[in-house]
Amino acid sequence: MADTKYIFVTGGVSSSLGKGIIAASLAKLLQARGFKATIQKLDPYINVDPGTLNPYEHGECYVTEDGAETDLDLGHYERFLNVNTSQANNVTTGRIYQSVIEKERRGEFLGKTVQVVPHITNEIKERIQILGQNNEYDIVITEIGGTVGDIESLPYIEAVRQLKWELGDDNALVIHLTLVPYLSAAGELKTKPTQHSVKTLMESGIKADILVCRTEHELSDDIRRKLAIFCNVRQEAVIQSIDAPTIYDVPNMMLKEGLDTVVLKKLALPDDTTPNLERWNQFLKRHKNPKAEVHIGLIGKYVELQDSYKSILEAFIHAGAENEVYVNVEYIHSEFINDSTIHNKISHLDGVLVAPGFGERGIEGKIDAVRYARENGLPFLGICLGMQMAVIEFSRNVLQLKGANSTEMDPETKHPVIDLMEAQKEVTHKGGTMRLGSWDCELREGSIIHEVYGKDEIKERHRHRYEYNNKYKEQLENAGMLSTGINPETGLVEIVELKDHPWFVGVQYHPEYKSTVASPHPLFVSFVKATHEHSVKHKNAKMAQK
Ligand code: GLN
Repeated sequence: MADTKYIFVTGGVSSSLGKGIIAASLAKLLQARGFKATIQKLDPYINVDPGTLNPYEHGECYVTEDGAETDLDLGHYERFLNVNTSQANNVTTGRIYQSVIEKERRGEFLGKTVQVVPHITNEIKERIQILGQNNEYDIVITEIGGTVGDIESLPYIEAVRQLKWELGDDNALVIHLTLVPYLSAAGELKTKPTQHSVKTLMESGIKADILVCRTEHELSDDIRRKLAIFCNVRQEAVIQSIDAPTIYDVPNMMLKEGLDTVVLKKLALPDDTTPNLERWNQFLKRHKNPKAEVHIGLIGKYVELQDSYKSILEAFIHAGAENEVYVNVEYIHSEFINDSTIHNKISHLDGVLVAPGFGERGIEGKIDAVRYARENGLPFLGICLGMQMAVIEFSRNVLQLKGANSTEMDPETKHPVIDLMEAQKEVTHKGGTMRLGSWDCELREGSIIHEVYGKDEIKERHRHRYEYNNKYKEQLENAGMLSTGINPETGLVEIVELKDHPWFVGVQYHPEYKSTVASPHPLFVSFVKATHEHSVKHKNAKMAQK
């Protein structure tokens, strides 16, 4: 196909309307019609990337194959589309300014005054168009973070205005996502906030081509007509996005509303295909018709904000569907786990996942949870910090190395079974300096993990500074904690598992980032299967007792 087309998604009225899910759903429909589509997120904050943000700020930091620390919306894009994103798919104001300032320092602006317009806006336009280079994609969808009217968003909106003008009508369009609130006292849906936000967009010179309206109630024809006439869009371009039981329903809902058809028409693209959503709908059917239920404890310290563990929760949804079981995730705050509470909090579960994390807070509770899972044959998955806690627990309670710890938590520990990686020792800057992105790992034949993946070598994504200390490897191995995955270049231990346990695996990497609807992650699939087997065994044992 000829030149790449661009779709911009802006948001109005309120934040958290789900621009990312709408963008991902549209991309899914276009992909299902045979178009090559990608999505990009522009974030208006000054952090160069979200890697330095506390999960309470914007939720989980998602990591791509190429090691970019990105917004969690990129996770949705990958899960929906089953294609990799990269650093180019997430750009922040911090990164834009950093790059413009570096150019200024190199003298690239030849003595000119460097300004928001045109220098910042040009940089934004370049970053958007990078994805359209080489005609790799037919369609690039760019989501502008924040809400129209925010001071921070202005340069992005101006860049979109200019690009839309430069590209021409058939090559670019703007979808504006708004809220149509329901006033229960009046018993009515209200269009005024949407009218105002469309007007705000107009003040910046942008006319919305399509309105996607978040609503709790069906939009009547009258409301649609009203929105169309006052917001200056065609009535078919008023798309209802009603609250859905699951985000995975949204592509079908958008299909029913004809979002993809309106987009193709507006971009002068052929509309002679029907989206092939067979695999997607197979997944949905299994997801919605589970044959059993399992309870898995997610032990972490950011449990108050579910977005902190977004990819893990979604990976459970994919793996649950694959196993035809409903995964009931129970959030357990690691700070509240101790000797007297542990039985109450964990004994009814079918499995335990100890989550990734940083810093000392709540780690003793995580260690207690690992111990419970190890001693009671409860399926266990430890991810990153969770794997490190498994090594510490085993060192303390099986090897009897008193005070064994990670030097992240106790720099003076006598037994640093988890220690700072050699490559990290000279690092002083926090941003973008961890061991990031995809690394190779060789699996030991005959191990659980080898069976899980069904191959000898894998690639998984990382985000950490500390590692398994190889000085303790022999002792750990001899006592039954096997290191069954090793990085072939560096010898770093990436996976541990227990010899005498039904299913106990700790991984230094983050399998959750690579789980998608089309390709649920094998480690989660196997873990959920083990928890299901555990629950069946448990139920049978209880019945026998009666
Ligand atoms: N804090 C640990 C480290 O830096 C684990 C990081 C993580 O769980 N992502 O090694």
